[in-house]
Formats: sequence, C-alpha cells, structure tokens
Amino acid sequence: MYESKFLKILKGVEVFSPEYLGKKDIIIAADKIAFIDDKINYNNSYELYDGENLIAVPGFIDSHAHITGGGGEGGFHLRTYEIDSSDIFNAGVTTIIGCLGTDGITRSLENLYAKTKSLEWEGLTTFMYTGSYHIPLLTITGEIVKDLVLIDKVIGIGEIAISDHRSSQPTFNEFKRVSSEARLGGILSGKAGIVNIHLGSGKDGFLFLNKAVDETDIPISQFLPTHSGRSPEIFNQAVDFALKGGTIDFTSSTNQFPEKGLKTKVSKVIKRAIDKGVSINNITISSDAQGSLPEFDSEGKLTGYKVGSIKTLFNAFKDLILEENLKIGEAVRIVSTNPAKILTLKNKGEIKEGNIADILLLDKNSLEIDSLFSKGETIINKGEFIKENIYSF
Ligand code: ZN
Repeated sequence: MYESKFLKILKGVEVFSPEYLGKKDIIIAADKIAFIDDKINYNNSYELYDGENLIAVPGFIDSHAHITGGGGEGGFHLRTYEIDSSDIFNAGVTTIIGCLGTDGITRSLENLYAKTKSLEWEGLTTFMYTGSYHIPLLTITGEIVKDLVLIDKVIGIGEIAISDHRSSQPTFNEFKRVSSEARLGGILSGKAGIVNIHLGSGKDGFLFLNKAVDETDIPISQFLPTHSGRSPEIFNQAVDFALKGGTIDFTSSTNQFPEKGLKTKVSKVIKRAIDKGVSINNITISSDAQGSLPEFDSEGKLTGYKVGSIKTLFNAFKDLILEENLKIGEAVRIVSTNPAKILTLKNKGEIKEGNIADILLLDKNSLEIDSLFSKGETIINKGEFIKENIYSF
C-alpha cells in the first residue's frame, strides 16, 4: 500500500459549514475538500484525524490586518512590528488581507506585497489592499485600476481614512473617484474591488458612505467600513448602513463604545447590532492586527499606545458563542462566510465539497483549537504546531 501525504480523513466530526451538517467524515485531497459523507471507507494511505468531541468550522478570514506593521503616531520608535505566520494560524485564521494604514511614507506597498507572498509560502492564503489612509492613493503601478488588474494579490483599496484627524481630509468627489476606480478594477479583474474604509471618530461619520450609496451608481456591496463600534455616533450610523444592506466590520483588537460612557468588547457590540435588527449576514469582524492603537486626550495629545493582536479575532468568535449565546454557525458566518462573500473569495468561507480545505477543528465545549488545516496542509495537530519553521531548510 502506498503512503500519501495528500489524502487525509477527518473521522466523525460535527460539521458547521456554517450550517450544521451533523457528524460527518471529511476527505481532504491535496488542497481541496473532496468528500463529505456520513461514513467513508478509507485505507491506510490516508492520514487519519479522529474527530471525537470536536467540531469542524471553516478557517477564519481576517479582512483587515497590518501584516507589515503599522503605527508611527508619536514617532519612529512607535512603529509596530511585522506579523508572524504562527500568530495568524493560532488565531484560527487561514486567509488574511494586508493593508498599510496611517503611515504610507516609511511603509510601502511593495513591502506589503512581499509580505503577502511570504505568508502565502508559509501556508496561508493572502491578499492586500492597495493605497493607505490617504487620497490620492499610493499605488504600485501608478494607477488604482492597474494595481487591481495586474497584481494578483490586490483585491481592493484601503484602508482609506474618513472622518479622522489623520485622514487626508478628502472631498466627497475624491472619495467617489477612488471608489469608482476600485469598482472598475474589480470588474476588469474579476475581483471584489472592495473599498475598505477606516472610520475615525471625527464629525462626518458615515457621511461620504451614505452619499456614495444615495447619489452614485456604485453598489453598497463595494464598501466595507471598519471600526464600526468605535463611538456611539459611528455605531448608530453603522447599524443604519447595515439596515440599508451594507456590510459592517467590527475591530476585535480595540474596545468598543456603542454608547456614551460604555466601554465594552466586540462580541457585546455585535450582539447589540443584531438586537437592533442587523442581519448576521451583514456583519464581519477583522483583527486590525499589528495596528497601532494610540490613545489621545481631548487636546489631541498622544497619551498611550498598544499593538493590535490577531488572537482577539479568535477570542471574539468564542465570546459570541459562549457569552452572547450566538449559535456556532452564526458566529462562523461573521468570521468566515461573510468576509468570503463580501471580498468575493472563491471556494472559501464554507466547508463544502470542492472548496479549499481550510478547516479548523475545535473542542466541542471549550472551543479551543485542536487542529488546523490550511489549503489541505496540517498546520496544528492536537494542539501542537507542526508547521516547519520557514528558516529550517
Ligand atoms: Zn484603521
């Protein structure tokens, strides 16, 4: 009998696709989910993974992470460091979208592109947004449309800052123009052409987004606003935007302020949005990993500083289920199925035959990570990180 590292069977695992499929056997062939059935015959050419007391969910998709580091507000010494692939996997994330941020001067898109390639090599699926906080946008080729069409990794633009003292204070016409270019580039390349928007705590809030939806022909699905729970004003406007059919993204690595004087966790703010009538299908969470989390006083003076952690995304998933009583499948939609949909990532965000084998096995009760498969490759097995280090040749 031949041995193959390309065939795996996950035996008797409860599958949340996100729909609950019951106890199933899953066959992974190379990087794909080949079969899902009640009981599949197999032989010893398969690597066997026992699914007893485990649930299977699709790998998480983080739509907003500063993978090359961010920050610098306050000086060079406050630039944050690059992310490590093991931190990404340990957060259950198998697909990650990198972005620049405030600093488009000492950080470059070329560096971001190289980082997406490096992480891909390490077993992740990676993409990036072109641009930074500011309009006019930084690009690699000189044009937004060309970046989307000619660069495999570029799936949109962002994070573009609006309503923030660190933004370029863009006019509505500037905002509209770059959004239309993202749309055109997306159409020509068969990608989402998503406009990922950083909402600051400034006075304008969702103004430009609402104007774009009401006054232009650009569909609401082109936009993915993030930091939706950062202030009471932003939260209420985000809820209205979602009720109009938009998708809203919440940041797991920061405290949320859905009402004056209330500081809370991302899981709680998401539950509030759901209670206000927002469909679970219109909500995503991203980590904002490696982002600088500066704190300013009322005069705009920097008073504190932290680095965003990707593990917060995994913790938010657990909190949604264990503290906010969402069903497992509902939480799966928020961290995997919905981001795959808004970013139009093919064969992602669901456990189904033919999809990429990004599968997370979790303990049924604690929801802690037991095993992780990314593009069919075993990354974590029984809690142990088995992926070879990138530097071990
Ligand atoms: Zn941001």
